[in-house]
Amino acid sequence: MAVEVLFPDGGLGAFGLFARQHRGDCNGNVLLPQGRAVSMIPGLVPGEGGRSRRRYLVERKEHVSGQMKADQEKRAVSSPAVFLDRDGTIIEDRGDLSEPAQVVFFSDTVSSLRRLAGRFTLFVVTNQGGVGKGAITMQDVDRVNAHVLSHLQRHGIRVAATYVCPHERASGCRCIKPNPYFLRKAERDFGIDLARSFVIGDHPHDVEFAVRGGATGIYVLSGHGRKHRADLPARVVVTDGIREATDLVLRRAGRADKQAQNGAAS
Ligand SMILES: [Mg+2]
Ligand SMILES: [Zn+2]
Repeated sequence: MAVEVLFPDGGLGAFGLFARQHRGDCNGNVLLPQGRAVSMIPGLVPGEGGRSRRRYLVERKEHVSGQMKADQEKRAVSSPAVFLDRDGTIIEDRGDLSEPAQVVFFSDTVSSLRRLAGRFTLFVVTNQGGVGKGAITMQDVDRVNAHVLSHLQRHGIRVAATYVCPHERASGCRCIKPNPYFLRKAERDFGIDLARSFVIGDHPHDVEFAVRGGATGIYVLSGHGRKHRADLPARVVVTDGIREATDLVLRRAGRADKQAQNGAAS
């Protein structure tokens, strides 16, 4: 619930002071003692006694008594996502790609992603170790990714963010899959509920990435899927490709919805 509050106008200096006093930042977001967020509404309104006042919008949050309630609140506002590996999952794995012309979409990619986009926020998460090795440049990767995204966009599919790890595995960076770095980033930046989210990929790393972020991993046999199948941990869901993975995700999500409805009704 949002309510408007008025504070005497003293310019941004006073706002900054107010922000500091209340542990907030000066980017228009202030945390009030009760955990309420404040943002400034542009413009001044006249106050009593001829003094102008600045209007602020205060987001009232219920006082959270425990972690359980916090989780419930988070769940109510956060949305589920599907994190898609790029090479071998939505396009053919043809090694380090440096040119858009090298991109070959799987025939089921567009129709599948369109179905997923109807109820999930979509992300692409890709390890591009070829950059770290010096085989390709980050500009190459950006160009190829821009091509992939614009192709999807032409078909009405929006990808919220594309996350790239350009490092070699030996560098020990924190963003390379299976480190759940980009899952956490999406959770933070986009309010994604990882427990209701899925990762689809053709490498055991993709599945481990999901597990470590608290999401569900689905392994596809397209790309390098067949080659690495023996390295999979037990009880991993394995499907042929992006279309079958999509069927599975939507089936599971539908089942979870039904359970939630039944739970709410009883
Ligand atoms: Mg892959
Ligand atoms: Zn990295």
